[in-house]
Amino acid sequence: MSHSLTLVCPLPNGIHARPASRIAEFCAGFGAAIRWRNQRNGQMADAKSVLSLIGGDILFNDVVDIEIDGAESERVAAELSRFLKQTLPHCDEPLAAAPAASRALPRGLAELAPSPCFGQPAGQGVAIGEICVHRAYRMPEPETLPASRGLDRELAELGLAMAGLGERLLGEAARLDGEAAAVSRAHLSLLRDSDFRARLEEAVAAGASAASAVAAAVAHYRAQLARSASEYLREREMDIRDVGRRLLDILAPGMEPGAAELPAAALLWAEDLAPSELLALDRSRVKGLLLARGGLTSHTIILARAFSLPVLTGVQHGAIAAGIGETAVLDASLGALFLSPSPEVRDYYLDEEALLACQRQRLARACGGASVSADGQRLELAVNIASAAEAQLGFAQGADGIGLFRTEMLFMDADEPPSEDAQFQCYAEVVRLAAGRPVIIRTFDIGGDKPARCMSMPQERNPFLGYRAIRMYPDQEAAFRSQLRAILRAGEFGPVKVMIPMIATLAELRWARRLLEEERAALGVAEPVPLGIMLEVPSVLFQLEAFCREVDFFSVGSNDLTQYLFAADRDNDRVGQLYDSLHPAFLAALSQAAATIHRHGRWIGLCGEAAAAPHALPLFLGMGLDELSMSAPSLQACRRRLRELDAGRCRELLARALQCADGAEVRALVENGAARPALPMLTEDCLLPDVGWRSKAAVIKGMVDRLWLLERCDDRYGMEEDLWLREQAYSTGLGYGFAIPHAKSEHVLHPTLCLARLAQPVDWGASDGLPVDMVLLLAFNAADAGAAHLKFFSRLARLVMHEDFRQALRGERDPERLQALLRDRLEGAA
Ligand code: PEP
Ligand code: MG
Repeated sequence: MSHSLTLVCPLPNGIHARPASRIAEFCAGFGAAIRWRNQRNGQMADAKSVLSLIGGDILFNDVVDIEIDGAESERVAAELSRFLKQTLPHCDEPLAAAPAASRALPRGLAELAPSPCFGQPAGQGVAIGEICVHRAYRMPEPETLPASRGLDRELAELGLAMAGLGERLLGEAARLDGEAAAVSRAHLSLLRDSDFRARLEEAVAAGASAASAVAAAVAHYRAQLARSASEYLREREMDIRDVGRRLLDILAPGMEPGAAELPAAALLWAEDLAPSELLALDRSRVKGLLLARGGLTSHTIILARAFSLPVLTGVQHGAIAAGIGETAVLDASLGALFLSPSPEVRDYYLDEEALLACQRQRLARACGGASVSADGQRLELAVNIASAAEAQLGFAQGADGIGLFRTEMLFMDADEPPSEDAQFQCYAEVVRLAAGRPVIIRTFDIGGDKPARCMSMPQERNPFLGYRAIRMYPDQEAAFRSQLRAILRAGEFGPVKVMIPMIATLAELRWARRLLEEERAALGVAEPVPLGIMLEVPSVLFQLEAFCREVDFFSVGSNDLTQYLFAADRDNDRVGQLYDSLHPAFLAALSQAAATIHRHGRWIGLCGEAAAAPHALPLFLGMGLDELSMSAPSLQACRRRLRELDAGRCRELLARALQCADGAEVRALVENGAARPALPMLTEDCLLPDVGWRSKAAVIKGMVDRLWLLERCDDRYGMEEDLWLREQAYSTGLGYGFAIPHAKSEHVLHPTLCLARLAQPVDWGASDGLPVDMVLLLAFNAADAGAAHLKFFSRLARLVMHEDFRQALRGERDPERLQALLRDRLEGAA
């Protein structure tokens, strides 16, 4: 029996190591042979081999024919088709955009007359350190490695080396987090690749030593990837080399040159650098990287970004040769490297370092801390997980809890349901990681689009309307009870809640509660464990009061509730235009439910994909939901946005959204930014008394930096340039030691007045020739300023003519009174 499918590659970076390893893992679970053929280049690939998939050179939008042969090919085709539609598109997190290539130096720096060399900026930030050269590793030629000492011995050594490296990579994946862990996992799947292993074993069988088989296999894959039409895939070559290098470390130790001694602050130059070489560096000493090669999306660069290391690529040895052993400054935002900088340039960059450190602190405060709106309304931000590793990732992003633990993932790849003990270990690990934060564990939601071979499932015409989740529990009572026991036992380590999926009737709920209570009594667990339901079947909406009396909490499964409300299969693109979690009908159902649930003193969260939809947050805040639960990478941006929102305005926005005709109107409404609160034009943070800047350029830079730190401007170099354009037309030094630099700039996010009192007057080219000690900077957005910009400017200019105003501004030391003074005098200008 054979079945076929067609895939149009949805990943902008093509099928590289990370998505390939997810595909290979998924396909490895089936007995059937699964072969891919890339229509563009005719390349065949075994879908169970990462390397074979990568070798298929599958690029964005390439059409791939998939042939499935053998056992249960129909079922495999159905499951693979779902995987390709639902999971594959999310298998490759978009990379943070690389900063723009080198740009003109800002005035404050240019006037110090430095002469930098430029490269391609790949990481962000600034680093000051001594230039040193990394001693690079070269993959040895197979012939230069020791010869075979017999087939059995070489095979045994190869097996040991692969197992040893596998363990190390597993350990790294568990110990590291974020991108570093992802790289270790990707390397692990390369190591375990069936194609790779077969190639090695074949070479050893043909008389090669294990070490030379590794070198030959690496050379083969490197050559294959080097032919790829995609730069992104060509860059993956480094990953293969890295895995090979680490195997050779075990099989033929001593081939690698010793690590170079690094100074306390090093700017490290390398021809190119493998991810493991970067991981092996003493990162407390390496402050920045200069690479001759290394694409913007290579894993080395991904890691460098994750470690916040500034990086320049395209820097050839000749460019740094004169500066080796000397201090240099690397500015990754400008893409510039300053060899042997003058004391002035160094001072400039010491200030830059301080500014960037300050910005990092502010960001950490904005992303960490409480999940509250600008006006103090709490909205917990939790994460959805399917494993303990994901919980770790979520808590590293500052999650307030686990809003949905999709436990069915533990069942889906298994021949038997996982034992109570295995489940207990897993849940307990998550609860320990949560360290007191709530963990909502959803009992297995098998069925629909999530079949599990360990539970017998009938073939159904409409699996989403069929035998799924709670509906199958009576037939799987032992498995359900064992899961309840595992959860109850894990509750010993911290707060857990049980959540039942697909509840449609009170009878189902009562049955589940009875079993939960029986198991609790049998285990002797004293404290009741909260029992909640997924709010995802519409019948519950119409019996909500009764449910409120019997459940402890609700979590909206917007994925399913949307499909059931619009009768539009969540898995069917043809009806995709009907499936809209921002449709006013859906919003109305949800806001009425939230109001009823709160009236009964119950808790309501939302854990479907809509939780992270960019337009949805103000509406969910307006509804007063208690929690949103999403995948970890969405969390920080969501918290940041939440802290800008005003819940009162969001309630008004929601009321307007409910009047819209469709989801498109709702999105347009939210886009208008109606819910984003305006910042006052002048806040205490905009007052800079007694600053020590010594030139006009330093003053303008310092004030713009402040606006940028306060997130009143989004591009400090652009904003600075806009101010200078005005200064070039005429000096804004008005006389009497006052200057009013001003600009209408596209980089201004909020109209702002910023005041600086200079400890030392600076030359401003003022009309009366006097140096300036008082600077009032006015910033307006180019698009929305209207006439306000000129009104403010002329009002301020008139005020400066009055001696009493000048004296008051110069003399007032109290920031509150200074603010009040400016506000009073400017009143009427707005
Ligand atoms: C949902 O339905 O929104 C949900 C979170 O559950 P699942 O996607 O697992 O059905
Ligand atoms: Mg659901």
